[in-house]
Amino acid sequence: MIELLRNMNLRNLPSVEKILSNPELKEILRDYDRLIVTELVRDTINHARNSLLNGSPAPSFISLIDQVKESLSSFAEIGPKPVINATGVVLHTNLGRAPISMEAANAIIHSSQGYSNLELDLGSGNRGSRQVQVEGLLTRITGAEAALVVNNNASSVLLALAAIANGREVIVSRGEAVEIGGGFRVPEVMAQSGAVLVEVGSTNRTYLKDYRRGLNENTAALLTVHSSNFIVMGFTHAPTVKEVADLGREHDVPMFHDIGSGCLLDTRAFGLNYEPTVQASIGDGSDLVFFSGDKLLGGPQSGIIVGRRDLIATLSEHPLMRAMRIDKLSLSALRATLLHYVKGEALDKVPVWKMISEHPYKLKKRVQAWKDQIGGELATVISSQSTIGGGSLPGALLPSWSLCIDKPGKVESLGRELRRLPKPVIGKISEDKLFLDARTVLVGEDEDLIVGLKRALESV
Ligand SMILES: *Cc1c(COP(=O)(O)O)cnc(C)c1O
Repeated sequence: MIELLRNMNLRNLPSVEKILSNPELKEILRDYDRLIVTELVRDTINHARNSLLNGSPAPSFISLIDQVKESLSSFAEIGPKPVINATGVVLHTNLGRAPISMEAANAIIHSSQGYSNLELDLGSGNRGSRQVQVEGLLTRITGAEAALVVNNNASSVLLALAAIANGREVIVSRGEAVEIGGGFRVPEVMAQSGAVLVEVGSTNRTYLKDYRRGLNENTAALLTVHSSNFIVMGFTHAPTVKEVADLGREHDVPMFHDIGSGCLLDTRAFGLNYEPTVQASIGDGSDLVFFSGDKLLGGPQSGIIVGRRDLIATLSEHPLMRAMRIDKLSLSALRATLLHYVKGEALDKVPVWKMISEHPYKLKKRVQAWKDQIGGELATVISSQSTIGGGSLPGALLPSWSLCIDKPGKVESLGRELRRLPKPVIGKISEDKLFLDARTVLVGEDEDLIVGLKRALESV
């Protein structure tokens, strides 16, 4: 009997043509490719058939139409979708790391909607290099002789090792043969480059004499890696960058420093621990320094290499360079971001630095205003701590303020409703409470946050 009913229901499912000829859909479908829409409709019907076979009730014709409309609109949405970061994590890898400045975003539009002199030297009319857009800025800012940019920092490290150390040895402290996250592991990158990893010292303590003992005629480089996402505490030792660089110089072996986050400003001015700057690493004698463009630099995804001119020249001629080359959109945004540093306006213009340098009392005022607009008893203004994240300044905390929503037993569903908003709000859930940290909510997003939060609160 049940079997019979089910078969009847299956037979009653509308055909693809019937759905496609629905007047309401027909109107919408005009904007889309016919073949793709037909596939979507077929998928919707198949999905309904499978649910029927699994015992679900038969869907109405109207609900099938709605499903097609829904899958069309999410299929055709522009993405990645902008979200409000209320987590208090400034460089949130899942949320796209650094938001770029308005000037950097405008630079992308300015130089990409038409043609550009990306690889044309306008003076001579001959072929030029895209690297000239940023090399001069990078050398001025960091004090290095030369610079090269690639697709991301993982590429920087791989390129340098492949170009300089293929088939030879690279000395790394055992405590620095680490995983940075997202699949970047020093030993594995080393293996891919064809270099041979020579680990020296121990996990917690490595001395200069360990590096010295590892040196031989087959050593191509010394590599130090900034522990950007973890802290080693207690009984530890590592020689300074300068000591390792000096040792390299003594033996005519270049020293590479993977500094990770590409910090150009002094983090101590904001109550944070010292994050080594690129300028300091160059000043200490590193022959090449590698860093990301989208961490503390606050620009687009990119990998930046600065250092000795002869080494940079070798890198730029390596075949991998072509595979890792930076695209024109990122290049223009990177140039615009670097200009903020050249003009001494990074704290005012680079979003990451604006957030890091924001005074807690201003954050408190914003959260207070959120609370006033939400009203009621369930929201409180509390002091909290923001983090830098994204593989920068592990363990560093910035005093901040958050709106705390106390809805016992309903926090998970509130979090879900917030993520489903037209402009999703991403907060932090802890101890059955939801926290919205003001530090990472960009100026101008408060209105959307409040409207969204009210709406989400109504639906839980
Ligand atoms: C983040 C990081 C990387 C990877 O950089 P991407 O730009 O994500 O490729 C490599 N090394 C260190 C030390 C890092 O912190």
